[in-house]
Amino acid sequence: MMPNWMDDIRELEELDKNHFLHPTSSIQQQQDAGPSFIFKEGRGVYLEDVKGKIVIDGMSSLWNVNVGHGRSEIGEVAKEQMTKLAYSSCFATFSNEPAIRLSAKLAELASSDLMATFFTSGGSEANDSAYKLARHYWMLKGKPERKKIISRTKSYHGVSMGATSATGLKPFREFSSSLAPDFYYVDHVEPVMLRELIEAEGPETIAAFIAEPVQGAGGVHIAPATYFKEVKEICVENEILFITDEVITGFGRTGKWFGIEHYGVTPDMMCFAKGVTSGYAQLGGVMLTEQIHEEFKKLSTGTLLHGYTYSGHAMACAVALKNLELIETENLIGNAESMGKELLAGLMWIQANHKIVGEVRGLGLMAAIEFVDEDQKKFQTPVSPLIVNEAAKRGLICRSVIFDGQDTIVIAPPLIITKEEIGNLIRILDDSIKEIEGKIP
Ligand code: PLP
Repeated sequence: MMPNWMDDIRELEELDKNHFLHPTSSIQQQQDAGPSFIFKEGRGVYLEDVKGKIVIDGMSSLWNVNVGHGRSEIGEVAKEQMTKLAYSSCFATFSNEPAIRLSAKLAELASSDLMATFFTSGGSEANDSAYKLARHYWMLKGKPERKKIISRTKSYHGVSMGATSATGLKPFREFSSSLAPDFYYVDHVEPVMLRELIEAEGPETIAAFIAEPVQGAGGVHIAPATYFKEVKEICVENEILFITDEVITGFGRTGKWFGIEHYGVTPDMMCFAKGVTSGYAQLGGVMLTEQIHEEFKKLSTGTLLHGYTYSGHAMACAVALKNLELIETENLIGNAESMGKELLAGLMWIQANHKIVGEVRGLGLMAAIEFVDEDQKKFQTPVSPLIVNEAAKRGLICRSVIFDGQDTIVIAPPLIITKEEIGNLIRILDDSIKEIEGKIP
């Protein structure tokens, strides 16, 4: 006889197949095999599923659970705020204390010019808000023709209509038969193309340029050291707003509060989400410099006609404040920097051990490892998905990136990870590569 709990799991699997349309997932895989994990609990860097299997969350789930799973301190704050005031509207100048305190805290943490925050529920909304606010800024300045948005190849900015339109990874754009107008793309490492595109289109037609300080979903691509200085200069020369998408790189992921700090430049607007609450609540936003905020104070229409029901959600903002306190008091940014070096050293050790490992790269706790055949070319059929499956069986969650002909595994564990846990992660990855390498004809 099968134990009852197996019946329960079977039931969950069937219900999942029949009723749950998963985000960014293979529908065929779900229909053939059901959900690959049904998680029920998380502790630190570990997740446990309903079958009792424990795995290392080597992706911080979606690059967001920075303080790790199961932090009861955050749960306590959420409970207290939910019980007192879960939510009240922030439209029509209504406010609440957590939203006020969080906007002030963000102004303290971000670069000195970023002063005011518009809140959203996540990263896609943050990016859409940035495009609309950038265009409205130019309307206020009497230049409504400045409306084009430039982004980079290999970029990922989310899935709402504006965010998809700005996303450089083509498969995401091609998923929808039509997109928002006025979006343009330039090479992700070569600033010359940005200059050429601006000249070709006319600087007077361009509102903003948006970039992730380190490209995440596109395969952890780290820009050359001088890239952002050059890009910022081009933006300043042409009066184009420079927007950073810190949805992944914000709040310690790269070993600094914000990824752009590695490059010694400051943005005009900054989008954030994910790590602001470590996934304990849905929250994002876009920050504006004092100068842009001053223009908005002179609003032409009298009303900022842009707002989400959950902009400034009291419980989510209270959770963010607690999460940021944990990042600060536990020095998780310092840990991301030092454990990032451990992770990169581990990946380089793997590289030295396996012929099929090509480039390895990383900044803080964002890293990537590429796979190549004996001629240093890409395999005809990518091997990274097989290695990711093998790693999952052996207790490690990581992600394969095969967009744009890549064959890469990305890794981004929680910022609380220890040296010993990095060692386990590397060992599982090494064993998984060995297993798959042995099967390549
Ligand atoms: N921007 C970046 C850089 C991201 O990585 C993501 C999500 O992965 C987004 C925006 C979209 O955020 P969300 O999924 O919260 O809408």
